[in-house]
Amino acid sequence: MQNQSLTIKKEKILTGDRATGQLHLGHFVGSLQQRTALQHQYEQTILVADLQGLTDNGHNPHKVSSNILNVVADYLAVGIDPQKTTICLQSAIPALSELTMYYSNLVSVARLQRNPTVKNEIAGKSFGSSIPTGFLTYPISQAADITAFKATLIPVGDDQLPMIEQTNEIVRKLNYIAQDDILVECRPLLSKVSRLPSSDGKSKMSKSMGNCILLDSSERDISKAVKSMYTDPSHLRVEDPGKVEGNVVFTYLDAFHPDAAYVHELKARYQQGGLGDGTTKKILEECLQEILKPIRERRKTFISDKSQLIEILRSGSQKSQEESNQVLNSVKNAFGLNFFQL
Ligand code: ATP
Ligand code: MG
Repeated sequence: MQNQSLTIKKEKILTGDRATGQLHLGHFVGSLQQRTALQHQYEQTILVADLQGLTDNGHNPHKVSSNILNVVADYLAVGIDPQKTTICLQSAIPALSELTMYYSNLVSVARLQRNPTVKNEIAGKSFGSSIPTGFLTYPISQAADITAFKATLIPVGDDQLPMIEQTNEIVRKLNYIAQDDILVECRPLLSKVSRLPSSDGKSKMSKSMGNCILLDSSERDISKAVKSMYTDPSHLRVEDPGKVEGNVVFTYLDAFHPDAAYVHELKARYQQGGLGDGTTKKILEECLQEILKPIRERRKTFISDKSQLIEILRSGSQKSQEESNQVLNSVKNAFGLNFFQL
């Protein structure tokens, strides 16, 4: 009898990060932890999205090119294993740009303008009336990335849900044109923390906003960030009852502390009164220092060997080129434009 495990194909996962800076704690809880765990059960590709990074950095491309290897070092530091996960570079896979071109004929400008994440991002940036075309259309490029690898499961933060919806709309339109299921729909996999706030609690931690605790932050920077965290402004004395909702220290304890029952107990004590912010911050700081110390040390080793990082990215990109060319071929066939049968 044939070995069953040889015949069952593993489900495919695709995720990615813009190469716009080093990765931070938001990435860690929002997707890296999940990716590290999932790589054992799924076939996983991770895309270093340098082209998407350019969509709001066209006039400052160095920011993107100088961060490509930083992102790869961050992956390895948290335990992404290149033997299990394919790590590839968006700009090294021409099929992704070609697919974007084909798909862009299926999406209206009005549909792009309605995307709530893009809308928020545009409002937060200083584009004025000069929104780069690439920025408005980046959800189409994400659809190309997802479909090019036939990914069905996408571990993301909640800001990415509209992109998944957009991708599935394109899949349905294309399959209708092809009168065949050449592309597959995908579904999101939200992590337990899909939007980690910055220390001040005002916005999501994000590379572009410079409000991050990076994966290689020094002990001193971690301590500083925790000490400055927003808590409950009306909790003036230790004996006052305090609020845990919106209190960034508790949001982080929920996200990072390994003992949920202990955090539950701390919350109850804080709400009753008698637990000071100095104490909760000390508990959080110890927890973050413990998580980040080994990551910082591993990262230091990886970033000091650039040729190893380049090799990982090169071989992952080569494998990804072959995979994505197959999907590109079917899409060109669907449009009747595979003239030379590549
Ligand atoms: P940029 O500011 O350049 O957009 P970013 O910090 O938002 O960078 P991305 O590369 O855009 O990071 O996001 C990559 C992935 O990480 C996405 O799936 C996103 O949802 C997730 N992610 C980013 N920031 C957070 C956060 N603060 N909390 C949870 N998940 C996050
Ligand atoms: Mg982002």
